[in-house]
Amino acid sequence: MITQYDAFEIRCPMLGHPLTFSYCRSTDGNTPCRNIMNCWFQRLPVEQFIQDHFPFGTLEKLTTPPKPKMQSLLELIEKAKATKKNGDIPCRDVAQE
Ligand code: SF4
Repeated sequence: MITQYDAFEIRCPMLGHPLTFSYCRSTDGNTPCRNIMNCWFQRLPVEQFIQDHFPFGTLEKLTTPPKPKMQSLLELIEKAKATKKNGDIPCRDVAQE
């Protein structure tokens, strides 16, 4: 049952106040918080919980560290350059104005 741990409480390191597991498992309605493994692993069989109640691949997403911000930014710049080269989206060159 997905609600079996909902009443368990923890102090949230991101929000700075106590909250219940029900929030952690459904932050935006269907997606568990990306920190759920770190916050709950000592108190609940959270890995098994994720496998039992969320789509395949969710556990992998939660345990894969996020890309460094600089890497993400460089990827976005490369993608924008490629898009501009292909003429998909007209870009204004502010540097020439
Ligand atoms: S899992 Fe997320 S929302 Fe829940 S306590 Fe940890 S950081 Fe806060």
